[in-house]
Amino acid sequence: MGTKLKPGVVWGEGYQKLVAACKQGGYALPAVNIVGTNSVNAVLEAAARNKSDVIIQLSSGGAQFFGGPGLADAAKARALGAASAAQHVHMLAAHYGVCVILHTDHANKALIPWVEAMIAEGEAYYRLHGRPLFSSHMLDLSEEPLAENLAECARILKKLTPLGMSLEIELGVTGGEEDGVGSEDLSTADHARLYTQPEDVLRAVEMLRPLGHFSVAAAFGNVHGVYAPGNVRLRPEILDASQKLVSEKLGVEKPVNFVFHGGSGSDKKDIDAAISYGVFKMNIDTDTQFAFANGIGDYVAKNPEAFRFQIHPETQKPLKSLYDPRKWLRAGEKAMGARLDQAFKDLGATGRSLAQEG
Ligand SMILES: [Zn+2]
Repeated sequence: MGTKLKPGVVWGEGYQKLVAACKQGGYALPAVNIVGTNSVNAVLEAAARNKSDVIIQLSSGGAQFFGGPGLADAAKARALGAASAAQHVHMLAAHYGVCVILHTDHANKALIPWVEAMIAEGEAYYRLHGRPLFSSHMLDLSEEPLAENLAECARILKKLTPLGMSLEIELGVTGGEEDGVGSEDLSTADHARLYTQPEDVLRAVEMLRPLGHFSVAAAFGNVHGVYAPGNVRLRPEILDASQKLVSEKLGVEKPVNFVFHGGSGSDKKDIDAAISYGVFKMNIDTDTQFAFANGIGDYVAKNPEAFRFQIHPETQKPLKSLYDPRKWLRAGEKAMGARLDQAFKDLGATGRSLAQEG
């Protein structure tokens, strides 16, 4: 392939090269939701170990948590928490020797002010450093009428393009619930809306392609969260139909950059099919959340006294070395990293980093 990029956060042309390399090379990058420096570092460490590039993203709730749940102004915490997380990644990513796409997750209509606040932070950052704070943001207006969804996406994309940023949009509704956006009750979801219509994808491409770079979170039966088998049927061929329709109109091969939401708990064969139809990004949150909790849960189960006493009640030994937060947070980081090893492998990303020093 020959394309090499400097390690660290990618944006603009570098970002576009990375997306193109994924689609041409038939692999995708995991997009991992993070909520603090522990999860950020776990992702960077796993990406480095797997010699893969990676996508680090924050939901609005994750960004608020990063800013601190004790900060009284939640909107401020969401915007500043996102900016703080991004600066942490900018500071460290290059030292892990991989390329990182920095992204923010679902923003519905009520969260447009959050996106605009991050763009304002990003513009200030750009003036100082000559690069954007984030590689891309997402707008999820899939609950709104298509015309309104696309008009708003166009308005935001016009602000992102001068910063060298990309926009992720959503067409059709991803089932399940992600951080308060969407519904956990799958039975009430309108089933036609769970599958993106190729004509809608074409309309989005015709409207947004002239304005800048964007990707499409398409609904092909995917849901957020992990549900009992039989509740969901994935139909990745929906992506193929959209890709073919747009390709015919534009005369370009695989023109659409697809994003797979609700990747946790998916079958390998559905992942492979989705990637072959132009998916370059698969979100993973539920499974990495569980892994982090599971790692800490195991640690607590093995060392229960350390979480209740400073001195062991029977042996009288000090327990400081066991309740030190670095010990049990590290157990969470390691378990999250082990789940990510599998994600890189499932997505065909292992060993394919474009990063090269020099
Ligand atoms: Zn999602």
